[in-house]
Amino acid sequence: MLLSIPTLLLVAIFIFALMGLLTLHAWSRGVRERTLGYLGSMLLLAACGVTLISLRGLTPDFIALVLGNIVLLLGAALNWTAMRVFTGRPPHLPGILAGALFWSLWGLMPGFYDDLGLRVTVYSMLAATYGGLSIFELWRSRQQLEVSYLPALLLMLVHTGFYCVRTVADHGVSLDQAITSNGRGTGFFSFMLFESMLYAIGIAYVTLAMVRERTELKFKAAAYADPLTGVGNRRAFMSRGEKLLADCARRGEPVALLLCDLDHFKRLNDTHGHQTGDQALIAFAQITRNSVRQEDVFARIGGEEFACLLANTDAQTAQQVAQRICESFYALPMLEPGFLSVSIGIVGASGPGEHDLSRLLSKADNALYAAKHQGRNRVHLYQPARWLQSEQPAGTL
Ligand code: GH3
Ligand code: MG
Ligand code: MG
Repeated sequence: MLLSIPTLLLVAIFIFALMGLLTLHAWSRGVRERTLGYLGSMLLLAACGVTLISLRGLTPDFIALVLGNIVLLLGAALNWTAMRVFTGRPPHLPGILAGALFWSLWGLMPGFYDDLGLRVTVYSMLAATYGGLSIFELWRSRQQLEVSYLPALLLMLVHTGFYCVRTVADHGVSLDQAITSNGRGTGFFSFMLFESMLYAIGIAYVTLAMVRERTELKFKAAAYADPLTGVGNRRAFMSRGEKLLADCARRGEPVALLLCDLDHFKRLNDTHGHQTGDQALIAFAQITRNSVRQEDVFARIGGEEFACLLANTDAQTAQQVAQRICESFYALPMLEPGFLSVSIGIVGASGPGEHDLSRLLSKADNALYAAKHQGRNRVHLYQPARWLQSEQPAGTL
């Protein structure tokens, strides 16, 4: 198949420009993720660079051979910068300018314009270096990346691999020759343009997908978190709680639900101010989070109400955990005694059909009501037949 080089050059310029503008548009419309800003700029630089190189013969050689390649190398450096920024690192200005600077200085040397083969080799080496750096950025952060990064990694590997091969396999063909050859003997040149177009489309698409995925994860995390205490909210509790219950039911494991309500919280707010009330909520969340395990589900499900589902835990152990929470909160030196206390209703589920969240919440609510009724600052275990006060008030221990 013979490919027309002028047509390929024109199509490449339009594709780079279009992808660059679309990427910058996504950057300006969305969450202003800087990765997209750098990637869009990289694509626009590629469009400019190829335009300058295509002007060979119409303008002084300096424009096409020096300026054109400098712009292309800056573009390659911005590809690397986009990956750096995506993985949480700042742009590296000396690294960005290094390739362009090297090319500018070399462009001043005598002999630069005469050795096409050497220019192709050096350019390919610099492009492959920036490609390698881009891969390195993603690879070294792969453990922290919560998004699917493999498509971008593979794409950059192929792109960099191509420039590695070009370093040794392409001895160069001048642009005049490529344009006037009607496609004969310009296989590598055509393939390079073709590959760069596919890369531009691919990298814009996969980077946009990575950025979108990360944004969605951030929004989801925010939708499931309580902004004051940092623990899960009611939505998180219902969704993670259902899952925990289903897992425990499948394995035949018992679970226990703790429903906690801070005592006389309105009075605390009225006496010490809303801000102190907030501090008390944060302190309670911290105490409870430190008292339960990673696999348990703990959340703030209402104003001063918290719930905790303990995985693979029987009611007796749950009582001990609840008692510890109760005592630790009471003993906090934040305010004078009597202002910080919590009542906790507990219910256990061990038999078949008992792992039902709304039924457990209702039972735990009954137990909590009993704890309040019996004087607050205590834990109360739900009993199907009769309710028994199970522990002494935390303050009297
Ligand atoms: P009880 O011992 O019966 O639970 O009494 P209570 O005062 O704790 O219960 P009540 O339901 O009467 O009052 C709850 C208070 O919690 C009222 C509300 O202003 C306060 N509250 C709810 N959310 C927040 C919050 O985010 N910050 C603060 N500071 N207070 C809150
Ligand atoms: Mg309440
Ligand atoms: Mg309360």
